[in-house]
Amino acid sequence: MVQKTVIYFFLMAMALSPVISGTDVTPNKIVNPIESTVNVGDENLPPPVGDYLENPLLRLQEGTGYSSKDYSEIARGLSSRYPEILTYKTIGYSRDGKEIYSIVMTENVKTVLNRDDFNTFRMHYLIDAGVHGRETVNPAIVLKQIEDYAADYYKDSHIEDFNLRDVLSKSVFHFVPLVNPDGHDLSKFGPDSVLTSSLKDALANIDDKDYSQWKANIAGVDLNKNFPDFHLQDGSDGLTDKWQVYPGNFLSSRPAGEYYPGVSPGSEPETKALMEYMKSFDFRSYVSYHSRGNVVYYEYKWYPQSYRDKALILAQATNEVTGYRLIPDTGEGSGYSTSYHAALSLKPSLTIETLPYNTALPSGNRTYLDAYEKTWLLPLHYQRIGEKTGYFTYRLYVDGKYVRDYPDEAYARAIAGSLGGEIIQGEGVPEQIISK
Ligand SMILES: [Zn+2]
Repeated sequence: MVQKTVIYFFLMAMALSPVISGTDVTPNKIVNPIESTVNVGDENLPPPVGDYLENPLLRLQEGTGYSSKDYSEIARGLSSRYPEILTYKTIGYSRDGKEIYSIVMTENVKTVLNRDDFNTFRMHYLIDAGVHGRETVNPAIVLKQIEDYAADYYKDSHIEDFNLRDVLSKSVFHFVPLVNPDGHDLSKFGPDSVLTSSLKDALANIDDKDYSQWKANIAGVDLNKNFPDFHLQDGSDGLTDKWQVYPGNFLSSRPAGEYYPGVSPGSEPETKALMEYMKSFDFRSYVSYHSRGNVVYYEYKWYPQSYRDKALILAQATNEVTGYRLIPDTGEGSGYSTSYHAALSLKPSLTIETLPYNTALPSGNRTYLDAYEKTWLLPLHYQRIGEKTGYFTYRLYVDGKYVRDYPDEAYARAIAGSLGGEIIQGEGVPEQIISK
């Protein structure tokens, strides 16, 4: 179905606009935000999904033209079109003051979001993209997933094999489409995209000048080396910090377009925003879209067998859906967002590299469509696996309130120790509050 839809939009785009003729087009200026042209419909009426499908807010075939501002307008537009199942939440701001946000997707979202037991009322899944600036297809992919999933909620024939009305009655998807808006805009549109003059000056002092290849945030910190990184050492009962202890081959000792990990773990506002979000919910799995290589990193070396088993299931499912190759973890490298989430929760945390390795970055319009077709259903597969897996035995409570569950007792107790919490064993859906 999507194949037809995607081809249809592609043909329409070719017919309607000489600018996007199917060849790679990289605009050199920021296009205007689309807010004035977005027709989101009337919140009091059921969505006219047919109209929305014909007039999508996100057009993959125009991907190269979108700025971070365009994306946040599209995200707001989607939550206005589908208010029953989508809500837009600001979760932080980049160094340059650009918004970092999540779209929360579940049935009756505005009511259930306020429940005291929201964390266990339904199972939660985290999806993000755009940690690295130049990997520009993935924010579009995530926003398009939201748009297609929302459409299927109202018109089940839109996505074969999945019924979003059923899925969203028991699950919550949290999408963070663009973690690093500054890096994204710099890579696509150059230093004119920087709003703060002191940041513009600092950028001019960084040696790397090929901004199209920029991965870092605007301060030259590679966010995927900036996350705190810990694990439970065998035979120990406390957590060990391994941030940059095993840095691997790629490292810069000063601000750069890539590989500089920052002055300390979690030093960057973009990193902090995502960390706080990860801590706030009991995610059953986490996937972070990167580019390139058509591979899956599932990162297990430092975590217990119970984690490895679960991560491998998701990695294999990803391979079956996309054909992407699985890459075993060497234990080298440090500060990944997925490592942080894995260490925090012992829940499967995957890095998926869209696009073939030889794709030039930032990539052209056609690659947005190609990457989408391979990956758009992945979160739905992860939801199925999460539901089948269920909750784990060792439940962490802090101040009597449920935080999350763990499959490994020693690990759970180490985390509880670090947070002043306690571990309660149980089965089935965890109690939200325990009476003392
Ligand atoms: Zn990346």
